[in-house]
Amino acid sequence: MHSPYKKDFQAAATQANESMFDCELSILRDVFKLLPAGVTVQDESGEFVLMNDAAAVLLQPAKTGTASQLSDRRETCLELLRAGRPAVLEEAIAGGSTKQVFLTSHRPIQVAGRNFLISSSTDISEQKAFEDHLFRSAYYDELTGLPTRRVIEHRVNSLLKYDNGQGRFALAFLDVDNFKHINDYYGHPVGDALLVEIAKRLGLDLRESDILSRISGDEFVLLLNPVESVAEVEEFIHFILQRLKAPFFIDQSEIFASTSIGVSLYPEHGRSYEVLRQNADIAMYRVKNGSKGAAALFDASMEREALARMKIEQSLRLAILEKRFCCAFQPKVDIRTQAVTGVEALVRLRDDEGVIQAPSTFINLATELGLIDELTHLVLAEIVKSIDLINETFGADTTISINVAAKQAGNPEFMQPFAEALEATGFPQRFMIEVTEDAFVTKTHIQDEILPIFRKLGVKISIDDFGIGYSSLSALADITADEIKIDRSFITDIHKRPRSQGILRAIESLSEALGMTVIAEGLESFEELAYLQAATKIRYAQGYYFSKPIFLEDLKLATPRASEARASVSSRPAQETRAAYSRSGGYRR
Ligand code: C2E
Ligand code: MG
Ligand code: MG
Repeated sequence: MHSPYKKDFQAAATQANESMFDCELSILRDVFKLLPAGVTVQDESGEFVLMNDAAAVLLQPAKTGTASQLSDRRETCLELLRAGRPAVLEEAIAGGSTKQVFLTSHRPIQVAGRNFLISSSTDISEQKAFEDHLFRSAYYDELTGLPTRRVIEHRVNSLLKYDNGQGRFALAFLDVDNFKHINDYYGHPVGDALLVEIAKRLGLDLRESDILSRISGDEFVLLLNPVESVAEVEEFIHFILQRLKAPFFIDQSEIFASTSIGVSLYPEHGRSYEVLRQNADIAMYRVKNGSKGAAALFDASMEREALARMKIEQSLRLAILEKRFCCAFQPKVDIRTQAVTGVEALVRLRDDEGVIQAPSTFINLATELGLIDELTHLVLAEIVKSIDLINETFGADTTISINVAAKQAGNPEFMQPFAEALEATGFPQRFMIEVTEDAFVTKTHIQDEILPIFRKLGVKISIDDFGIGYSSLSALADITADEIKIDRSFITDIHKRPRSQGILRAIESLSEALGMTVIAEGLESFEELAYLQAATKIRYAQGYYFSKPIFLEDLKLATPRASEARASVSSRPAQETRAAYSRSGGYRR
């Protein structure tokens, strides 16, 4: 049965469906148009049938400046349709200053018996840039743009892998001399700029097959490949050294920066990157400890030296662990009254065989290895332990001097806890810290921030070995210290050396004006003492003439009444004083 209404209803439904379909289509069209991914559909001849806004931006030659982008896409389309397989490809578009990278997935489809390629692109520029950054920082040094250690290591390893027995190359290890000083003095930005300039000079005249890399801070490794003879390598390295000796002009400063170089050769000095680098490093170390600013070729004797050094290193670490340190004390004497006004604690190491070693054999190494802070705390602990003996021997009101390395003095991480440790002794005002003048030359906060902490506790400051360091007399005016110790080199034979006498007078009047006490170090003879007494106003001296550094335990054993020893310093004539102390003084050097 037909109802007239039904027909109307069907017509209305069709109409509604159509308009709904129209509506959906228009939504779909808008969605397609505005999809964030770039979507295109291409036909069998590569022509674009559909392209949404994002794809238009991506492919529009006028905007991207890449005219070939469209034709590239056409070719890809033809190829993929021919192969009939999907593919995911990266497309890079260099537009303006930024590089855009898209990841496009292509899929061949069939609609109404016709072949199309549907492609969807996502912008992965950010992710790509990040990956590039990771790649670059793994393989290229950010500051100088030079390849990193990984690159040179990889290169050397592949040379070794494919060597047919004919290959010969050289590896040079370069280390900038006193870079830390330069950094401290001029500041890090200048230090960085210097490294860049050094890298430029090192990079001149290299061949395609050579590689220069920065492996850390101020260390570079240079691969010279191939090389024919030792002479050729030596000549080239000499050339580099000369070039580095010329001054660098950075930030209106003229900076001299020499470099120490060690060289190893393949195959003579090793058959792996690690061994070759290590041997070049050993040769460099030899130069560093000598004249610096020069080069050395590795040889077997250096390896023996390095092994011996490693042994010392090990035993030093062990000695610290086992606290095998003790102190010798040397009095500071008032040369007018012969009274002992202070003592200096000088550290000694009892080595594995029980032999007492002087600090010259281990202080620098301890500093280099980062063990010096612990060592200084051990010295302080030793003083605290011996305080009764110190008082008995030298007097309860004498100052107690303790040496602090220049490197420590500028380091708040050491100085802050050290100040606390001095305070914890209960008698901080008896301490004087001796620091060499080098500590004051660098632009650290030592003068403004570190020393005031000590002053507040009543701890005094002494400038040790004055006259041989980097600072000039005028630099002295900026340092507020309580005492200046004139280096032994000025005191030795002072009565016979007019030039040293002149320098002494200058230091003397300057320190007088600045209110600092002057003490002469290393006084050994009566003539030297007589000169100081007669021709200068210097009041204090320290040296073998009065006493060698002594072990208090020994003194106790040698003189049952230790107080007698003290009396001898303050009241007997100098000659006798020396005799009293020499009974127990001295140590194996
Ligand atoms: P310094 O602080 O300048 O100490 C003076 C050095 O000269 C001592 O050598 C002392 O034994 C020696 N000396 C004293 N009078 C004379 C003399 O009349 N003639 C000669 N030829 N030498 C004399 P020592 O004990 O071998 O110490 C050497 C250096 O080691 C010290 O020089 C000091 O810079 C450092 N040192 C010693 N103990 C410590 C310490 O606990 N910490 C640190 N950081 N350095 C220390
Ligand atoms: Mg000293
Ligand atoms: Mg000294």
